[in-house]
Amino acid sequence: MIIILLGSPGSGKGTQSRVLSAKYGFTHLATGDVFRAEMSAKTPLGLKAAEYVRVGRLVPDSVVTEMLASRLDLNGGDYLLDGFPRNLEQAEALSRILSPRHLGVDLAIFLNLSRDEALRRLTSRRTCSKCGEAYNISTRPPKMAGRCDACGADLIQREDDREETAQKRMMIFDDLTQPLIAYYKAAGAFCEINAAQSPERVSEDMSSALLSLRVRS
Ligand code: AMP
Repeated sequence: MIIILLGSPGSGKGTQSRVLSAKYGFTHLATGDVFRAEMSAKTPLGLKAAEYVRVGRLVPDSVVTEMLASRLDLNGGDYLLDGFPRNLEQAEALSRILSPRHLGVDLAIFLNLSRDEALRRLTSRRTCSKCGEAYNISTRPPKMAGRCDACGADLIQREDDREETAQKRMMIFDDLTQPLIAYYKAAGAFCEINAAQSPERVSEDMSSALLSLRVRS
């Protein structure tokens, strides 16, 4: 099963993906997390991605698509794709990767959040430098200031979460990623969730969408 998660930066894709992957056994494939890990390990892929990620631009389609294809095992397994596809070209590339195996996207879930709220969340987000767990300094602070509850590592503000870069990422979402909503709606595998609700309510709504899919299949 292939589930994709669409939503602006700050809409909760990463947080929700972690919860649902743990609950239902999906493999969580987050392209942004992969790039950040490769960047801190200074691999050739990381060095290539860094110049785009740091300024909030999209990594070229060929680079991200090749990276994704190399990490998808199409012989089995259920995937939750978080942050891919990000534009129509990537959506079409994904379909080209899946179709030879008679596979397709089973469900696209759109986490809908206003731009103001997404920006507010992004600029107050702090992220674990080791495990990637996300916190919010006003609504979900860690138990000990500056330390991850899960693994104890330092929390950092992502360079691309600073206001100016976050604004640019929001514009890229509006221009390039938003059209995917119509694309997956037309494909008939789409559901929209109000991401302004509490994280628990969002998880419940996502669980219901996934369970109804499993019932149908
Ligand atoms: P994210 O963690 O999903 O917000 O992604 C962080 C950054 O990684 C983005 O601003 C892009 O620079 C890069 N990135 C992640 N996913 C993609 C993608 N599908 N296509 C191009 N760039 C991506």
